[in-house]
Amino acid sequence: MRELSFHHSYTDGAAPPPVWAPPDPALSAAGVEGELVVARVRVVAMGLLMLSPTWNIIHHRDERIHVTGFTVTAAATVAALAIWLLLRRGRWRPWIGFASSAFDVSMITTALVSFLVVANPLVALNSKVTFEMYFLAIVATSLRYDARVCIAAGTLALTQYGGLWIWAALRYNLYDPAYDTISGPYDPVDLSTRLILIAIATILAVTIVRRAQRLLYLASRDRLTGLFNRGHLDRALGVALENAARSGQPLSLAILDIDHFKQINDVHGHAHGDRALIQVAQFLVRAMRRTDIVARYGGEEFVILMPGTPRQAALLRMEALRQEIAATPLELGDGHTLTVNFSAGIAGTHADPAAESPKALMTTADARLLAAKRAGRGRCVGEG
Ligand code: GH3
Ligand code: MG
Ligand code: MG
Repeated sequence: MRELSFHHSYTDGAAPPPVWAPPDPALSAAGVEGELVVARVRVVAMGLLMLSPTWNIIHHRDERIHVTGFTVTAAATVAALAIWLLLRRGRWRPWIGFASSAFDVSMITTALVSFLVVANPLVALNSKVTFEMYFLAIVATSLRYDARVCIAAGTLALTQYGGLWIWAALRYNLYDPAYDTISGPYDPVDLSTRLILIAIATILAVTIVRRAQRLLYLASRDRLTGLFNRGHLDRALGVALENAARSGQPLSLAILDIDHFKQINDVHGHAHGDRALIQVAQFLVRAMRRTDIVARYGGEEFVILMPGTPRQAALLRMEALRQEIAATPLELGDGHTLTVNFSAGIAGTHADPAAESPKALMTTADARLLAAKRAGRGRCVGEG
């Protein structure tokens, strides 16, 4: 841990999160938007796919095949609409990416199985257009910004298509020339290549997500300290206030400003000033909860969002943190150590009824920070 503090830039040494890790809050937000995009595309696609079964059922009402085709497509369209409406109302859940991409893959397999039942097994296995929809479904998983969803959907497609092949090979004599009139002969090499292509599409989707994860990560972080940057804070504050209003839970916000930081630069040099900032940032991250958001607001100013924490509790936590930081010498390398102190202003919903908007919450906390500075620095103010 200590080694990291001597990096000049956090992101130089930052390792990307592991593939199996759930996405961080910034990525979750992008994933929610991606899920909605996919849901919209799915509704349009199902609307277009309804055209042919609807035409068929109007003109051949009594043929069982068309009744089945219409019923299955209509059920899928209703499901697509239901997913879209739920998402539009903000009913997103962490498992939705897995469920909706499994739905897409399974609908494609259902179509292939219906070809097998209605026509013959080679029409299903050699299908061109329908099979290619697996690629659409797998590539679309990358819009969820969660590599686990890509891997799950890709594995499901492999299992379902592979399973269909095994099942057809066990039940039918696939070399029977009667089958190859419509869609070509049975070619195991061809079908194996299709399985490999599904695997490659999955790897590509994971790669897209990894690239996006890295870019989003960099875009939402401060380069020096690795904390969230101001742009991310602005977005996160809006979301946190909405969540607080919906759940009725309090939300507290603290603005911290290091005291006499300019002197540290003047006495020890800017490189040491930078290292002190990195150490303070690490201190804050370690001390706060996982659900708290710690951001670098500007030079030596930090903002901490504490969802679910009432203002009085937030004030006590900040004061305890301040005393801990003030009592801990920061190691700057080359044998240099120094201690810093900070001043903080704290505001909270419920306790500050006039501060229920992002701007008002920030302004209130900022005014209290100023009061803390005026009163002599090295203190936390949560009232007035
Ligand atoms: P006060 O107690 O009133 O807050 O005094 P201060 O010196 O901390 O306040 P002021 O806002 O006047 O100065 C902040 C200083 O922080 C100015 C600048 O040199 C320094 N600073 C801002 N960003 C960085 C940075 O990224 N690296 C370093 N080394 N210094 C920075
Ligand atoms: Mg300042
Ligand atoms: Mg300062």
